[in-house]
Amino acid sequence: EKKIEVIRNKIISIENYPKDGIVFRDILPILNDYTAMSYVLDVFEEHYKQITFTKIVGTEARGFLFGVPLAQRLNIGFVPARKKGKLPPPVISETYNLEYGTDTIEIQADALNSNDNVLIIDDLLATGGTVNATYNLIKALGANVEHAGFLINLPALGGEFLLNKNNLQTFNIFN
Ligand code: IMP
Repeated sequence: EKKIEVIRNKIISIENYPKDGIVFRDILPILNDYTAMSYVLDVFEEHYKQITFTKIVGTEARGFLFGVPLAQRLNIGFVPARKKGKLPPPVISETYNLEYGTDTIEIQADALNSNDNVLIIDDLLATGGTVNATYNLIKALGANVEHAGFLINLPALGGEFLLNKNNLQTFNIFN
């Protein structure tokens, strides 16, 4: 599709960043281009408009950039999942493994409840650790969550497999 090519052409691959051997995908040029950003929202909206969600949860930081405008398109609210210590209490936390060490993310405890059906949005799916931890927080607050959408999936890193094990259906605009 033409829209997907316009989006893809904005993404820059940077070798050996942030570490040797890593190819970093820089998605920020999409935000610099009104048309490419509109197309991202069009593709997500088209894919998800048939499903009734009550909230989008976006993960810090680039999940915010797409999650907030998509929530506006879908006429629903947005809830941030943030790195530890950034949100005022009460919060719930989940610690997950990184390649080296661990990280902790948090959601405000009153932001979701058992009446919610949540769509998770992030820019990129790699190992799935970030979104898996986000999924656990949403479930801990009693909300329903069955879908996670990404701009990019790096299938070699196994994130899709991990999330699908939790019955989380993934969608990505491209690989
Ligand atoms: P995961 O938890 O291993 O799936 O890593 C995904 C998280 O790391 C997302 O929140 C991404 O924003 C970030 N990330 C990992 N690799 C890249 C990249 O190449 N470009 C942009 N973000 C990345």
